[in-house]
Amino acid sequence: MRRPLVAGNWKMYGSKTMISGLMSALKGSLAQLNTVDIAVCPPFVYLDYVRQLMEGTPLCLGAQNVSSQAKQGAFTGEISADMLKDLQCHYIIVGHSERRSLYGENNETVAEKFKITQDVGLKPIFCVGESLEQREQGITAQVVAAQIDAVFSRCGVAALAQAVIAYEPVWAIGTGKTASPAQAQEVHQFIRQKIAKVNPDIAQGLCILYGGSVKGDNARELFSMPDIDGGLIGGASLKAEEFIQIALSAGISA
Ligand code: PEP
Repeated sequence: MRRPLVAGNWKMYGSKTMISGLMSALKGSLAQLNTVDIAVCPPFVYLDYVRQLMEGTPLCLGAQNVSSQAKQGAFTGEISADMLKDLQCHYIIVGHSERRSLYGENNETVAEKFKITQDVGLKPIFCVGESLEQREQGITAQVVAAQIDAVFSRCGVAALAQAVIAYEPVWAIGTGKTASPAQAQEVHQFIRQKIAKVNPDIAQGLCILYGGSVKGDNARELFSMPDIDGGLIGGASLKAEEFIQIALSAGISA
């Protein structure tokens, strides 16, 4: 049985005031959320602040990105995996479509970041997904397979035992257009079957999240699909009520 995970990707949003309100609301709801793992991924500058606010709770901390440089050094503006570990992060999001499309990260860069994350003992939340154009061309499966294959060849399939995959169709991120539960399930099942061909046990235990305009009112249906194990939540993770409702939906489907 896979335990669901709901992770909030705050992107480049937030302030100390906003974060303290959001975290108090979240902490106030934890008693109802004991069947689901919950993580929040604030901007780097707020990681330590959020870490302090979540101390003593089961909430987990995640970062949104990591440097592709494995060792500390003269890399102005970069943040290393060791530093994120030092700040008690548990997860690092790698390969988010905004990193791929706006900052030129390709499958190889993402695979390197995946490896660097695991090398320090943290868990990658590895994002995959197709653009609208690719979906319309009917190449969703090939695109997702190539993204996963890059990690296979850099890290080996066994690495997926210590990772989470997030399927995020690019056309659904921040657009309000959610994939239908059937559309999402089709790709999640494809991912699990692809991994099962190499290692059925790892495939069975792998947490595969859906991301792309998940809201309080569509989460339950998505999370009820057999291969959807929770969500990576952008916009709705900034609103306490929405995020809590999404986490409750994941808990119900557990
Ligand atoms: C995301 O940024 O990972 C995401 C899924 O965003 P949104 O929920 O806003 O579509």
